[in-house]
Amino acid sequence: MIDLFDSFQRRISYLRISVTDRCNLRCIYCMPREGVALIAHGDLLSYEEIRTVVRAAAGLGINEVRLTGGEPLIRAELPILVRMLSQIEGIEEVSLTTNGTLLQKYALELKQAGLKRVNVSLDTLKADRFRYITRFGEVADVLAGIEAAMVNGLCPVKINMVVMRDINDDEVLDFSSMTYKEGWHVRFIELMPFTDMMQLVPSSEVRQRVEVLGVLEPCPSIAGNGPARYFRLPGARGTIGFISPMTEPFCSSCNRIRLTSCGSLCPCLLSDNGIDLKEPLRKNASIREIERLILEAVGSKSEHHHLRDGAVLMKGRMCRIGG
Ligand code: SAM
Repeated sequence: MIDLFDSFQRRISYLRISVTDRCNLRCIYCMPREGVALIAHGDLLSYEEIRTVVRAAAGLGINEVRLTGGEPLIRAELPILVRMLSQIEGIEEVSLTTNGTLLQKYALELKQAGLKRVNVSLDTLKADRFRYITRFGEVADVLAGIEAAMVNGLCPVKINMVVMRDINDDEVLDFSSMTYKEGWHVRFIELMPFTDMMQLVPSSEVRQRVEVLGVLEPCPSIAGNGPARYFRLPGARGTIGFISPMTEPFCSSCNRIRLTSCGSLCPCLLSDNGIDLKEPLRKNASIREIERLILEAVGSKSEHHHLRDGAVLMKGRMCRIGG
């Protein structure tokens, strides 16, 4: 196996691919109410173009691909892309991050296409609050999606909750209890400033609250090689993870690069120096040329992000780059 390293000796093995900038929800911490200017359909990378990028990336040492968005399941025929990518030599895992609303419909098809596992974003268990946070979604659809993912073996299913003060932080214990009741793997994520919302709850505080239920025991990651630190409550089947981009940045162990839906290869969610692959792809660039551009993007990955010093304008970041 080949290894790919950036300028700071970090091994880059993971490619996140945004397949669309569109979403069927409008989460208050992610998108402005009016939405964002959308990319014309013809400007989205086609599935064949994405496959070419992944083939080139796999040849350089990328072995894990995650599909995201926008909401990836609203892109037509996503299972076709899953099948195409999971058949590429060197790609050991294709996974998906989704809001879960369409997962009940697609879980079986995705599994059959070769998808290994899903992360589902869910910030509340309460129907009215879900409608407030997502601006119009139904929590029952997501719960049915999580169930379908589990039944169809897209495991482990990880549940991502962005904790927001006075919005959903009173549900930290309810989510933690689900690691006992349902064996959920819950990850508490710190709010990043992609809208005007400033209701950050530091992971250290969330952890203190969880420990009302018992002392958290550190445990290894249940799957994947991401930024979460994992723990288990005594006797729980599921785990609790913390993702702390604001108070404990994990840049020194970052292993990822990101492909936007319109074909820009970004070395970091929080940087603007993407490298355009769409034009070369549409001019029939060779695999070697795409590899060279991937190496250029990896080489431009900075040592750390500047979220905490407020040096970067973050608005609408998730929709543009893909979460
Ligand atoms: N639509 C899919 C979903 O909901 O999972 C994929 C895209 S979404 C942008 C990916 C992840 O980014 C979600 O888990 C979401 O909670 C997270 N996210 C979006 N905005 C965020 C913010 N301001 N701070 C922290 N996480 C955020």
